[in-house]
Amino acid sequence: MDRHMSYVQKHPKVTKDRLLHFMSKNMLQDVNLCAALYNGRVSGAPHVKLEIWAANGLERPTFAVAAKQEYSPVEVGHSFGPSWASHWVRATLQIPEEFAGKEVRLIFNPSCEAMVWSETGEPLQGITGGNGIEKHVDYVITKCAPQLLELQQQPLRVVLYLEVASNGMFGNGEYMIAAPDPNRKFELETADLVVYNHDAWALYYDLQILKDLADPLPDTPSVRAWQALATANAMVNAFEPGDPDTIAKARAIGAQFFAAKGGEANHQVYAIGNCHIDTAWLWPYDETKRKIARSWSTQMDYMDRYPEYKFAASQAQQFEWLRILYPALFERVKEKVKCGQFIPIGATWCEFDANLPSGESLVRQFLLGQRYFEKHFGERSKVFWLPDTFGYSSQLPQIVQLAGAKYFFTQKLSWNNINKFPHTTFRWIGLDGSHILTHMAPAETYTAQATAIQLVDSLKKHKDIAYSNESLYLYGNGDGGGGPLEAMLERLRRVEDVDGMPKVKHAHPNEFYEHVEKTAKELVSWKGELYFELHRGTYTSQALTKKLNRQCELLLRDVEMLSVLAQTIDSGFVYPADELTRMWQQVCLNQFHDVIPGSSIEMVYQDSTAIYEEVVASAVSLKQQALSVMIASSTDALHATGLAVVNTSSWARTEVVAVPGLVQQAGSGGVQQMRKRDDLALVLATVPGCSVHAVDLSTQAAAVEQVTPVRVVREKDGSVVLQNAFVAARISADGRLTSLLDLQQQRELVPSGASGNVLELYDDLPIYWDAWDIEIYSQEKVRLVQGASITVVDEGPLVASVAVEAKVGKASSIRQWISLSASSARLDFDCDVDWHENRKCLKVAFTWDIYSDQATYETQFGVVQRPTHRNTTWDMAKFEVCAHKFADLSEYGYGVALLNDCKYGYSTLANTMTLTLLRAPKAPDANCDMGRHSFRYAVYPHTGTFNESNVVREAYHFNLALSHLPVDLSATNLAALSSFFALDNAPNVVLDSVKAAEDDSRDIVVRLYETYGGHARVILSTSLDVAAAHTTNILEEKDTELELRQAVAPGQGQSVALSFRPFEIVTVYFSTSPRKN
Ligand SMILES: [Zn+2]
Repeated sequence: MDRHMSYVQKHPKVTKDRLLHFMSKNMLQDVNLCAALYNGRVSGAPHVKLEIWAANGLERPTFAVAAKQEYSPVEVGHSFGPSWASHWVRATLQIPEEFAGKEVRLIFNPSCEAMVWSETGEPLQGITGGNGIEKHVDYVITKCAPQLLELQQQPLRVVLYLEVASNGMFGNGEYMIAAPDPNRKFELETADLVVYNHDAWALYYDLQILKDLADPLPDTPSVRAWQALATANAMVNAFEPGDPDTIAKARAIGAQFFAAKGGEANHQVYAIGNCHIDTAWLWPYDETKRKIARSWSTQMDYMDRYPEYKFAASQAQQFEWLRILYPALFERVKEKVKCGQFIPIGATWCEFDANLPSGESLVRQFLLGQRYFEKHFGERSKVFWLPDTFGYSSQLPQIVQLAGAKYFFTQKLSWNNINKFPHTTFRWIGLDGSHILTHMAPAETYTAQATAIQLVDSLKKHKDIAYSNESLYLYGNGDGGGGPLEAMLERLRRVEDVDGMPKVKHAHPNEFYEHVEKTAKELVSWKGELYFELHRGTYTSQALTKKLNRQCELLLRDVEMLSVLAQTIDSGFVYPADELTRMWQQVCLNQFHDVIPGSSIEMVYQDSTAIYEEVVASAVSLKQQALSVMIASSTDALHATGLAVVNTSSWARTEVVAVPGLVQQAGSGGVQQMRKRDDLALVLATVPGCSVHAVDLSTQAAAVEQVTPVRVVREKDGSVVLQNAFVAARISADGRLTSLLDLQQQRELVPSGASGNVLELYDDLPIYWDAWDIEIYSQEKVRLVQGASITVVDEGPLVASVAVEAKVGKASSIRQWISLSASSARLDFDCDVDWHENRKCLKVAFTWDIYSDQATYETQFGVVQRPTHRNTTWDMAKFEVCAHKFADLSEYGYGVALLNDCKYGYSTLANTMTLTLLRAPKAPDANCDMGRHSFRYAVYPHTGTFNESNVVREAYHFNLALSHLPVDLSATNLAALSSFFALDNAPNVVLDSVKAAEDDSRDIVVRLYETYGGHARVILSTSLDVAAAHTTNILEEKDTELELRQAVAPGQGQSVALSFRPFEIVTVYFSTSPRKN
């Protein structure tokens, strides 16, 4: 009998375990392969001398500051902390004589993150301490240590600085999403000089591949799995500890296995390194700035060592931080971009949340992003890169195309908790019919580990392999940065073309998409939104952030339009272009996919709130500056005889505005009503679209007489009816809306026995992702808020209102003002809530006598419809959905919209629509949403279906208040400030924004969209002097010239005719001529 027979086939499990032990760093490591991994190691003085300086508090000083400080001795075992504190370690390294001629590395493991700096202040490489899979603690000091002789008998001395950040890759929580522990400590575990045995490491990586390929045995046998196991076993047999020749022998056995190539029809993987860096999440923005430098410097070091390596990084904002804070690294990035290894990708300012930002915000994300990439790297991104966001707006395909990109990459829908998304490579068709080639990595991650097992596995998950035999593979540690490790690059080198595995090549993502475009047959399509079946709480968590975002979006809209107008009125007025760019960058930054969704730690919201408040303050001041140029005769409220009322929407509005400082003069024709809640004067104003209009305060009495006054009727049962010309709304004694009667149609909208304004408190206990998720079972456990009381506050003639007060839950309370004005059928609910609940969710529900299988929700530049039933699991999954300013439930002939001023979470089941008001998650922000909130919602009944309604405009009215300035009418002529822009012919087109062109000319860009889903042919006229007009994409590149015609109406200047397809976004570029006198 042959005593050297192999037992592999009889004992695959034993053989696999043997292999694991041979490679284990935790057992048998003195006699297995790990014993051979290093050819030298020294610790402590004189070779490794460490000194430390601790930064003050939680400051993050620069190298220049840190290098000047007094350092004191420190040793391995030292504890860094508390959480977020910075420590600088100066390492004076003396390379031992016996390391001469060899590559020498520093192993520095602070158990947290760190940056290696040269003695002269050059950022060299990042360190990820600890013992997780992302561990990266070695730094190559020299490729070849010099001989003593060359150094005139002095040992080589190297001084390095290590900037130690007291946080892990995932911040400072006890578990991943726990709120940060403020007192976390990190131990300096290792500070050694070592020499790697590269042959032993090479053997180690060979065996990692073989081990993975043998993994399916014995359950899923294949030729290559058996060969992999037999090969690995033979390699273990060949190895002899302490005998370097046996490493070469073992590798030669492996080489035979790797030499067998795959067939021609083999699947092709395009591998791209990346390190997803959340711009803020479990750490604040300031730490992200350091994470970028750490991660990208590490990757550029790998680019030097692995010439085949390609790495993609997204988010113009991150490049901009690097440019400002680490200019030398930024220059290195530019070099690596030039040689094709570093690939700026994504096309946007940051990787945004795609649910909440407005249409114009998404446009700015691309405008800022593409312009940045073009300016600094000479090229735009063709790939819209958004691997980690929580759902994808159906308008993205159109916006992506208008931004000069054509491909889309993501993977997040692999997290769906109800239905499996059915496609990998497909055409995504947007709301307007635009489509983009889309790929969702079949590895279902952007932090793949470049293992053989994962590469083989990802092939099994590719759902469109019949049409496209290729895929993208994003590898490298991420979320907290890091990126690919040496081991990953080594493994990929071994699997370029090996039988039993897909082929793998390092490639620019464009190469993948271009190849798919050329070769894919009959790709399938997906129409409409890519709804994410998870993280439905992100429409609601961190209420203030969402509110400030909405406020900034609308304020910047006004500032831009009014500044354009001010510039045309006064040639001395300078459009604040740089300031507006800066403010949009800030707003876009806070739209990052963990900030605006509410999934970050408390520190992040302290930062984002400060950013928003600064933007609001600047925007308010810029708006005031523009208005003061337009309305030179403004005065203080006490001396005002009139109001200049500003309407930046493109249609006429008649509304009641609330004005501070004015007083009601008894018996005069002046102000007719003061609002009791805040003592503001109520003024009825009618203003044409895109105009400033003077309201003569002395004629208010006459104006108010023209409208049916709103009045209050007190019923015997304690309920109160608010009634105007359009509706009668009955509020019960406990604050519910028990009747809403359309007086013109004589139609009751609240079904008998039902009601609206029902405040509901849900148990809100998600499975894991606290701030992120609302789960479907929470709908099964609801308590109604009871025992509210009401008081009549205002009794007309312009506004009537009741106040509602109620206790909510264990420790919270709400105060509401329900009001009806004389000018609209809209019933408003202004709320102040003091919120102190634990994992509860507050919603308000309205039940209507209206039946439809679909409800309509506003999205960016349009609307989407979603089911009101739960027939299938796909319907059921949409139990909580995102909407912008409104959602609407309509049947044939009638509908009611539920509007909001800063909320995004809606749920419609049968004939009940709810709006999610507040949540109380405890992770990762233990104090999320605790305290005071003010917000508004409204119901707006209308005849006709949604498509025949005025809901879109009413939602603008509710969100975009008419601005006003007190003026002295005798010194004012506002007649010229009329109808700067007007739209005729098409009630379904909205003029959304007016801005100065990006090219520093005095040209004007106007953006419009079709709102209801139909064609339109509209005449856009302007009273401004314009010399030419073109349509453009959103990057403001001229496309078709439009014929300028004399406007139909006198004094309207010139006009252009525009046609729209359903939900189309149209941008018009007006070239200006000098203003005629
Ligand atoms: Zn992310």
